[in-house]
Amino acid sequence: MSRIALLSEEVASQVAAGEVVERPASVVKELVENSIDAGAKRIEVMIRRGGISSIRVVDDGSGMDRDDALLCLERHATSKIRTGHDLAAICTLGFRGEALPSIASVSRFRLATREHTALAGTEVIVNAGKIESVRDGGDAPGTQIEVRSLFYNLPARRKFLRTENTESSHVEHQLHLQAIGHPEIGFVFVKDERVVWQLAPAAHLRERIRDLCGAALAAELLDVPEFATDGISIRGCIGKAGMSRSSRAQQLVFLNGRAVENNTINFALREGYHTALMKGQHPVTFLFIEMDPAEVDVNVHPAKREVRFRNAAWVREAVVEAVRLALESDRASWSRTFRAEATSAISTTDDTLPLIPAGEQVALRKDWSALPLQPVPPRGPDLPTPEIQRPVSRTPAPAAPKSQAPIEPPTSAPAPSRQTSNLNSSHDFKILGVLGKLYVLMENAGGLVLVDQHAAHERILFEEMKRRMEQQGVPGQRLLLPLTLEVSPRDGDWLARNLDVLQRAGIGLEPFGAGTFKIDSLPTFLRATEPTQLLRDIIDDLRETSAQTSKLRLGEDMIAKTVCRHAVKANDYLREPELVRLIQDLLACELPYCCPHGRPTMIQMSYAELEKKFGRKA
Ligand code: ADP
Ligand code: MG
Repeated sequence: MSRIALLSEEVASQVAAGEVVERPASVVKELVENSIDAGAKRIEVMIRRGGISSIRVVDDGSGMDRDDALLCLERHATSKIRTGHDLAAICTLGFRGEALPSIASVSRFRLATREHTALAGTEVIVNAGKIESVRDGGDAPGTQIEVRSLFYNLPARRKFLRTENTESSHVEHQLHLQAIGHPEIGFVFVKDERVVWQLAPAAHLRERIRDLCGAALAAELLDVPEFATDGISIRGCIGKAGMSRSSRAQQLVFLNGRAVENNTINFALREGYHTALMKGQHPVTFLFIEMDPAEVDVNVHPAKREVRFRNAAWVREAVVEAVRLALESDRASWSRTFRAEATSAISTTDDTLPLIPAGEQVALRKDWSALPLQPVPPRGPDLPTPEIQRPVSRTPAPAAPKSQAPIEPPTSAPAPSRQTSNLNSSHDFKILGVLGKLYVLMENAGGLVLVDQHAAHERILFEEMKRRMEQQGVPGQRLLLPLTLEVSPRDGDWLARNLDVLQRAGIGLEPFGAGTFKIDSLPTFLRATEPTQLLRDIIDDLRETSAQTSKLRLGEDMIAKTVCRHAVKANDYLREPELVRLIQDLLACELPYCCPHGRPTMIQMSYAELEKKFGRKA
């Protein structure tokens, strides 16, 4: 007796449904994608009880005639591709012809559709995959699909559904993706008869983000400058340096209009942000990548979530570059806001708030001055060298260059209020003092600025070392007695592969017999009491990152790891000229607003915020 039998159409559909329809959110995804493919300008989604009880999607797209309304319920019936050849050039969201029959096989399903020029529409009722009735329908042009009692005929699947709240948040996330991916389409989301959001068609992505995610988030985003290199173009908005999330929920990437999850892109984003992102955190992105569909395989996953690239390195480089450009463009506008102009405006607050408490005149920190820190020259004509007003202090300020306006004598009364403040332009600021031996307080026209002196110094050291490494390599200091380092075979491999990077970073290392390396020089700035232990720590830290990052990044990581140990710490008193220098050097950095570990260096607290806190303004 033969043991193999062809599955009935009904069972085959249920099997297919297992892959495509996992939960209400997957139904919503497939239906909305179909509406988008049908050219809808407005899509309304209604769910009841997390979508478990019912899901309804109404669009004003092309609609279908009666033949198509029946055909679309057959498996492998699609209007989007015809031949295998077409698979290489998919420009629609759907193409597998599986979604509708799968969904209809596991629910009570109703389709009502009408073409715009047709006199009447068609209504089809299907229960658990069986067509119950087909008749004329009088609905508006477009398509309406209603899916009730999901998995009612498959109790085992139904058991896997989570609470209504969980299911409904999955639905909402799915709709967020679709709405961000298609700002030109109007969306309405109704949950348990209540309108959750209603989005008018938007002319720009930013508008859609604002409508959906709020103005506060939108204000924190940078535009990715339109970026195109051979066959790939990237646009969108991404979070500023230092802005991060603990999950990837707001890391949205669209490839040819489709929301995708892809590790190549995830790593590229991380690498693009690099030191502008805290370790273990994820960036906020609304990134749109457009490329030749032949270069990407979307037919990897039944729900089309994952994609595979023919040339991953090419995509990765483009994404890294796009992120880098966006962050860099921010640096220009940032420095415009914070640049201190050499005006005659002078602080008088030093009399009441000394920078250094009397009797605490500590010596200049030797290890800081050991590193000749040169401010980075401005990158373009629109980036003037930042200058800072010198606050009046008890210690005489360094002589001002000739070009600078003379320093006015302090006025007799301190002028703490906004009206009398002499900081007129938003470019000016002055140092007020240091709080808790860590935070430098500054005033600018916008309000209060707080600088974390440790984070700021880390950033300055980091960029200095990085620049040196890129230019000529960090000078190493020869050790009087070379040290030997014994390592495991795995660490040995890693070291051997990365010798050049380590050498550029000032660590003179060479193989010295089996499992042993000889260290004969260390970077000058590294004054470790236990160099071998330190090197071991560095290897441990770096091996993790190196699997995912390029060699240049590896060097940067190493610097980021080591500068932290050497930067000015909290509790280190900086004298006024040192503070001025610190702020100057920070402002000259490429990415001044966050330390090499992605933490902010500087926080602005606006007058508006202060007024709100003090109840001066509603
Ligand atoms: P696919 O989207 O992969 O083609 P589906 O099962 O999702 O497969 O849909 C089958 C076909 O039904 C589509 O190719 C399309 O022609 C038609 N269709 C589905 N939904 C709509 C809709 N909302 N408006 C117009 N046509 C639709
Ligand atoms: Mg589809």
